[in-house]
Amino acid sequence: RFISLEGGEGAGKSTQLKQLAQSLRARGLDVVETREPGGSRGAEAIRTLLLQGEQERWSPRAEALLFAAARADHVERLISPALERGQWVLCDRFLDSSIAYQGGAGGIGKDAIMELHRIGSCGLLPDRTLLLELPPEAAAARARQRDGGEADRIGARNARYHAKVAAAFAALAQAEADRFRRIDATGDADQVTERLIAAIADFL
Ligand code: C5P
Repeated sequence: RFISLEGGEGAGKSTQLKQLAQSLRARGLDVVETREPGGSRGAEAIRTLLLQGEQERWSPRAEALLFAAARADHVERLISPALERGQWVLCDRFLDSSIAYQGGAGGIGKDAIMELHRIGSCGLLPDRTLLLELPPEAAAARARQRDGGEADRIGARNARYHAKVAAAFAALAQAEADRFRRIDATGDADQVTERLIAAIADFL
């Protein structure tokens, strides 16, 4: 099974990914944890290009292409082989982040992102996408705590950009209701993990 976790900054994706992986392993499943951008050597190199540059280093189109290239390497080198071996793959962000960030907030559009994904990654989609949703103030507070005040690491982003990201995620979850589950990310971490397990219970 291929499961992606999505959401804006500070929604708790990385903590939840770890806890979900632990919980699935405790049920005897063979789980691979990975993240985007990154997850393979080539994709981690692109991650460095994307996250460590000066603000607005990349044009929006170039940024979308870099994410698509990173994803192509990650899928070919890590995700597809793991799925073929019968492992579970839990991925912190995937295509839907590109649709929400580069496609929605960045203005490239969903269709163009999907086209890049078709070319780069044969259109591979998760079996289920868990969208962690948190009110914007709570997300900003958590992200500040984690990054020491640097919640935005790509380009000069502001609250308006993040509001667009959240709106794009919500629209996606509605348009692809079969694949998506919207998860309330408030409350303590263990509670949220229980909600995630419930949202994939049909696979267990
Ligand atoms: O929150 P996380 O650590 O997963 O994301 C790393 C950075 O990459 C964040 O600043 C996030 O907004 C950004 N990102 C992006 N477009 C994507 C995926 C991540 O701008 N498709």
